[in-house]
Amino acid sequence: MRVDVFTLFPEVFPPYMDSSILKRAQEAGLLDLGLHNIRDYATDKHHVTDDEPYGGGGGMVMKAEPIFGAVETVLGAPPQIPVILLSPQGRVFDQRVASDLSRLPHFALLCGRYEGVDERVREHLVTDEISIGDYVLTGGELAAMVVIDAAVRLLPGALGAENGAANDSHASGLLEGPHYTRPPEFRGWTVPEVLKSGDHAKIACWRRQQALKRTAERRPDLLDNQDLSEEDRRLLDSD
Ligand code: SAM
Repeated sequence: MRVDVFTLFPEVFPPYMDSSILKRAQEAGLLDLGLHNIRDYATDKHHVTDDEPYGGGGGMVMKAEPIFGAVETVLGAPPQIPVILLSPQGRVFDQRVASDLSRLPHFALLCGRYEGVDERVREHLVTDEISIGDYVLTGGELAAMVVIDAAVRLLPGALGAENGAANDSHASGLLEGPHYTRPPEFRGWTVPEVLKSGDHAKIACWRRQQALKRTAERRPDLLDNQDLSEEDRRLLDSD
């Protein structure tokens, strides 16, 4: 998967993107990340990328020319791939959107700053807008990293354990149950016996029950969209 990111702050990406699973994904050729500084495409002497808003009101707005210049130089005019603006006004990101993006061979992310981008960018360059939640960040860079991280971990081979992502919370619409590791007893708190039993069928059943109960407890809204089997209902009702 190729992801081209357009930003005024490319330097914030490597510390996170070049660590752990995302680093491995890049080394394995699963993720090809292009970082492009929009400032490099500002054609005036001082490489200005923002200006005051028409109509006043304070704050600065990212200018259209450098953004169009950056995106069209890198991707062609018009770009033939999705160009996604990170925006608190976009559709809200979730596991389903992450899964859809993980199937795309190539997409671009545009990070806003200040009051956001000139509306003409939104109208004539951007093909989609994604918000990572109902709050306002200083810039789109953290949001872009969230989107890339969530999409890349769904690529086959990105995680060490082959079915790691399949059992994660939200993958099947449920929250995942609890995890334990050594030691078997810590400060008197023990690990459930079933997890040490070696009986894989029993363990799978316990995990399903924990996932169902945890979802019912914390996010009952998620269960509304689930087609629960008779066995699921029995697990939910039993201790
Ligand atoms: N004035 C804008 C508004 O009220 O909609 C907010 C601008 S915000 C301070 C600057 C940039 O941060 C945005 O252009 C966007 O790229 C990014 N951003 C802020 N919150 C975000 C969110 N929840 N999801 C995705 N991107 C966000």
